[in-house]
Amino acid sequence: MTNALAKNNIKDVAREALRALVVRKLDPSPDNYRRLFNEISGVEEVAQATGAEQSLERVAQHFPRTSPELLRLAKTLERAVGKRDWDQLASVLNEATEAASRYYASTESWRNLLAELLQQLEANHRGIPRARKKERLERLLEIAAGTPEQLQQRLSALAKSWAEHATETVAAEHEQALPAHTGELRRPTGPLLAPVMAPDDAVVLCELLAHVLDVGMAGLLAYDPAMASEAETLARQARAARTSPEFNAVRAAIKSFLLKVELTTANTADLHHGMLRLLRLVVENVAALVGEDDWLHGHISVLAEIVSQPLDLVMIQHAERSIKDAILRQGTLRHSLTEAKTAFKSMVSGFIERLGEFSTSTGDYQETIEQLSTKIKQTDDIIELGRLLEQVTQATRQVQAATLRSREETLKTQEQVRAAEQKILDLQTELSRVSAKVREDQLTGALNRRGLEEEFERSRAASERRKEPMSLALLDIDNFKSLNDTHGHSAGDGALVHLAQVIKATVRPTDVVCRYGGEEFVILLPGTSLEDSIAVVSRLQRELTKRFFLHDNQRLLITFSAGVAERLSGETREQTIARADAAMYQAKRSGKNRVMVAEQAAAPSDLAH
Ligand code: GH3
Ligand code: MG
Ligand code: MG
Repeated sequence: MTNALAKNNIKDVAREALRALVVRKLDPSPDNYRRLFNEISGVEEVAQATGAEQSLERVAQHFPRTSPELLRLAKTLERAVGKRDWDQLASVLNEATEAASRYYASTESWRNLLAELLQQLEANHRGIPRARKKERLERLLEIAAGTPEQLQQRLSALAKSWAEHATETVAAEHEQALPAHTGELRRPTGPLLAPVMAPDDAVVLCELLAHVLDVGMAGLLAYDPAMASEAETLARQARAARTSPEFNAVRAAIKSFLLKVELTTANTADLHHGMLRLLRLVVENVAALVGEDDWLHGHISVLAEIVSQPLDLVMIQHAERSIKDAILRQGTLRHSLTEAKTAFKSMVSGFIERLGEFSTSTGDYQETIEQLSTKIKQTDDIIELGRLLEQVTQATRQVQAATLRSREETLKTQEQVRAAEQKILDLQTELSRVSAKVREDQLTGALNRRGLEEEFERSRAASERRKEPMSLALLDIDNFKSLNDTHGHSAGDGALVHLAQVIKATVRPTDVVCRYGGEEFVILLPGTSLEDSIAVVSRLQRELTKRFFLHDNQRLLITFSAGVAERLSGETREQTIARADAAMYQAKRSGKNRVMVAEQAAAPSDLAH
């Protein structure tokens, strides 16, 4: 073998190489030409070196770069080949082959794992629906922190557990078919939770369940202590669970507990509705009831009792019915009382006519009867009437001229009057028991002046006792007359009702709303300072610009002028109202639709009194 070809030889070799290309019918590419040239000339080393370099370049280019380590090795390889640094290449190649084989091994195991997972995911496992499998897989991926190896382990455990479950289900079915004594194999059945997860995950999940139960327990405590304690026990069990049967026992117990909670809460929703209806009923009617009324106190104490105990639907419905009955009865009583009074009046007037007939029989008797007759006409008092009628009977008895018939008639009438009197007394007693002394304005449902008197007194006593301020505002609708004139009286009535509603909705439930006169309202604000009361009334003004009064589909804007006063120490109701009234007139004079603060000194109108 020679290292250098002679120049002449080169020409010959070149010619031979070209000929060989034609003879062997090869493509006339530089590679083919070089190969033939080398073959003919016998210079094989050069050709081999070039091919190896190219291969090495290709290996370096295609070397995997999927991890920082592989990337580093790929670059070193490339550099070594590029520089033809065969020493470095030798050492890096060693390292690189090991890394690459690890990489391919792991790719292979991932490929296998994914194939297994896919297969198990698709397989039909009784007791583990596909959706649940997907959910578990997703959850595992969400929580899988750590190295790829750890993730791989977890995924593989998951796939394995599904596969095992399939065999277990089959085995369990098989077992059931066997005679009973083989039951002592004691294979854990229904492993829906534990085997699917790594034990750590099951513990975390149990802790989570226990936490949810803790929260639920706090909520339950208020109305169902028994359920709350059940939740507590379950939470404890969930925290203590470590083994697969324990996990499953806790899971089953929690499931049936949740079912119970669901049933109870549906019931609770009904309870709350019942409660609300009941409260609304009472609140709606409280205004119509007398403060010291026994009936009201009775029902308030029923309510108090209901709310003091765990809610009971039956009890609430019962209370609701009884309050409704009472309200109905109140209405009937009012009606009967009116009827009884009318009957009584007609009886009395009939009696007086009859007395006139008696009076024709002259003498002292006539005089006595005339006097009694006048008194009877004048009195409204039923007790007094009874007494007068007794006297008439006495007088009649003394008169010889009176016939037996007329005396009997007198007695009979007297008896009727007594019966009517008794009926009225009974009705009145009952009515005053179940119904209000009239404290309410019929049109708007706000309190009337009498109601205000009582509330003012109550609020005054409370504010003095608690050393708190109290204020009141007097409102007068602006240009109400023109609203009446333009849209009719019933529109005016509607506007009053609307205003009362907006006031009630705007102020606190403890504030008192009163219709003080035609289109004047007083708002009593217990425990409220002057500044806060001004804010309340200003808010009310804004509220009225938002909540229009609708009449015949027309939006009518109601405005008012108001005076606000804080009650001064020692001041009477009339005095405070007079100051608020003076401020209200000030507001009217300054152009209406505004709120003015009352002077601290007594109002001029009050001084004039
Ligand atoms: P101002 O802005 O100065 O207060 O003027 P006004 O028109 O509101 O006041 P005025 O006192 O002149 O008129 C009040 C009107 O309120 C007169 C009366 O007919 C009417 N009114 C009083 N009570 C009722 C009621 O119960 N229903 C209706 N529709 N109108 C009423
Ligand atoms: Mg007025
Ligand atoms: Mg007015």
